[in-house]
Amino acid sequence: MTFKTLDDADLKGQRALVRVDINVPMADGQVTDDTRLAAAKPTVDKLRAAGARVILLAHFDRPKGKRVPEMSLAQVVEPLSQVLGVKVAFAQDCVGEAADKAVAALGDGEVLLLENVRFHPGEEKNDIDFAKALAANGDLYVNDAFSVAHRAHASTEALARLLPAYAGEQMRLELQALDAALGSPKRPVLGIVGGAKVSTKLDLLNNLVGKLDALAIGGGMANTFLAAQGIDVGGSLCEHDLGEEARQIIAAAEKAGCQLLLPIDVVTAVEVAPGVASRVQGLDSLGPDDKILDAGPETLARLIATMDAASTLIWNGPLGVFEVPPFDKATVSAAKRAAERAKSGQLVAVAGGGDTVAALNAVGCADDFTFVSTAGGAFLEWMEGKTLPGVAALSQ
Ligand code: ADP
Ligand code: MG
Repeated sequence: MTFKTLDDADLKGQRALVRVDINVPMADGQVTDDTRLAAAKPTVDKLRAAGARVILLAHFDRPKGKRVPEMSLAQVVEPLSQVLGVKVAFAQDCVGEAADKAVAALGDGEVLLLENVRFHPGEEKNDIDFAKALAANGDLYVNDAFSVAHRAHASTEALARLLPAYAGEQMRLELQALDAALGSPKRPVLGIVGGAKVSTKLDLLNNLVGKLDALAIGGGMANTFLAAQGIDVGGSLCEHDLGEEARQIIAAAEKAGCQLLLPIDVVTAVEVAPGVASRVQGLDSLGPDDKILDAGPETLARLIATMDAASTLIWNGPLGVFEVPPFDKATVSAAKRAAERAKSGQLVAVAGGGDTVAALNAVGCADDFTFVSTAGGAFLEWMEGKTLPGVAALSQ
């Protein structure tokens, strides 16, 4: 991967337009999770230390090209300022007179946040004239928002073509971690893909079988693979109409020399409820009311053994209904083992996906993973092997 980082830039006195993702969850005017604000800090710190003038570009919510007062970034100024530990000025618009004035007033090492870029229809249309209006206020561009890099928007794509463009610190970390997991990984590489449905992850599975040495399929989506091989999955979640697609993935894995690990035993119950009576079953004994809700002990033991032999792990999707104990067992055990091995330097462990991150946080082992991506859609598209416009624009 070739992209310039802040170490390559001459920053003193420069107006740096920095695309960040500070689309934080809020309730009653309060930020409920400031992870994204904290993620912006390393880049802002680095720019300030080098004497740059920091101009933050960001979106908030989905105003769809109109000025929506409830979606103003003004409400994020104070919490952002607290997390960054510096005063943050604010401009009522991201282009035009309000932006020009605020930028002109900015001194070296100072920070300014411009109003929601999505108040302008040109943003999501990747409109070149809107991008030029943004570019008018900067000498250089820094993209630190990997989580929106799968969108070709003016502030994530076109702008990178108009100004000298650099990857911010968060972007750099994310790209390096992803490259270490799938781009040029240390082999053998094991993938774990779980979650509810095959239908949402067909592209991902097809891309992975061509790149991995082993792929463990778990969660509800494994049922579709089992059923496609003629196994009766009883009352389990299963997409019976995707049998052909599942068989094609099995064939593609075989052809590519990717060892596919499907469940060999399962944990079932007749309903999903905390503490409900559950049992371990083989694959030949499921009754019509049995629901597969987690991987069984033999499946888990084989996964752990494969993980112990792997140098790299890439993981998306829980192995069972982890929200409802005891069906979190396989997910928790695998997560703990991966964290242990990553911590001792034996495994590069990268994970991402909304529910996957929630599961790792619940187990308390996210910190020990090599990298946990909170980028959601961008992470999944990257796992699918797609080109992310925001990343491609940086590598030109
Ligand atoms: P991510 O958000 O990490 O990409 P997904 O959204 O694809 O993950 O999948 C997570 C969901 O899959 C969870 O809500 C979990 O309960 C569900 N799930 C996992 N295993 C099963 C199963 N055997 N049956 C039904 N749902 C399952
Ligand atoms: Mg999810």
